[in-house]
Amino acid sequence: MTAAPFVVIKDVAKRWNGQLGVEGISLDIPEGSFTALLGPSGCGKSTTLRLLAGLEHPDEGAIFIDGKDVTTSAASDRNLSMVFQSYALFPHLSVAENVVFGLKVRRVPKAERQQKLHRALEITGLLGYENRKLGELSGGQRQRVALARAIVAGQRLCLMDEPLSNLDAKLRNSVRKDIKKLQRDLGITVVYVTHDQTEAMSMADTVVLMKDGHIQQVGPPQDLYNKPNNTFVAEFVGAPPMALIEAAGLNGYEIGQTLGIRAENIEIVAKGKGRMTCTVSESEFLGSETLIGLEHDRATGLSVLKPGMAMMPEGQIVDIDFHNDSLHVFDGAGHRMTAQG
Ligand code: ADP
Ligand code: MG
Repeated sequence: MTAAPFVVIKDVAKRWNGQLGVEGISLDIPEGSFTALLGPSGCGKSTTLRLLAGLEHPDEGAIFIDGKDVTTSAASDRNLSMVFQSYALFPHLSVAENVVFGLKVRRVPKAERQQKLHRALEITGLLGYENRKLGELSGGQRQRVALARAIVAGQRLCLMDEPLSNLDAKLRNSVRKDIKKLQRDLGITVVYVTHDQTEAMSMADTVVLMKDGHIQQVGPPQDLYNKPNNTFVAEFVGAPPMALIEAAGLNGYEIGQTLGIRAENIEIVAKGKGRMTCTVSESEFLGSETLIGLEHDRATGLSVLKPGMAMMPEGQIVDIDFHNDSLHVFDGAGHRMTAQG
């Protein structure tokens, strides 16, 4: 017998005065998994999370947590912890008081509180800040307090909305790993909102990519990368994003189709030996390789990676080549076509 998924979102829609928030949202989230809701600003990530949290209620559909229909229940009845952009912290309390607030309410013994507090502050890099008042902290530090509070809450379901957005790049990288490790170690279920595809791809077991209030694709990161459902997914996932080429003029493909190709599958070849002739638009040294941006009037996002430091002058004309097997074929509506070599 297979148990029902820990969280089930079933055909949920939310509108404000007829204006679309999200629509047709269905998701099964297994216990102990890490799900990232990914997509550009305004696509409905936060709305979906707030519906799951009970901070909003859907106009259509149903939400189940741990087998219980919570569609109309209050946030406080859903046994979950939250780390949101608009973190509800108490400015007049200290860091330590904020972090253990929920534990105190639940009358967790002091020794256990202290131990959990220490661990949470360690993870979030806040040791030494115990007695600071919230009002004396930077945005990034407050964000870490919110994270620490969710960590000590010990709920099985934790919802996070862009919890790293105010951190600097270095800290973001390390806290990202800490959150992931913590989620695995504790076996908690995390639903994590981000607009940053690197964050989603590196942390999540399942990525849910959204656009204009609708889900575009659900799957493990490698599926979104290797088998994008449509041209939107192709261009959103991966750094650099997939290049899109009008099929017209390329052997074996039909007018109206769009071909997708990734930088790692393109090479610069000798003049006259390539399938397309492009103009170098920029060179970006990334450390271990150099990303060469290319322009062509029937393509967008073309680029090629060269090992090491390999800048090329802007305006240089180059021929590029690629194999048909590394092409992704999309139909006239931008949907992935299944039959391809
Ligand atoms: P994201 O988190 O992906 O940036 P949101 O879920 O916040 O996007 O918003 C999705 C859409 O719903 C947007 O068009 C936004 O303007 C709208 N929306 C969100 N919250 C409200 C609200 N309280 N009232 C009216 N419209 C809202
Ligand atoms: Mg948001």
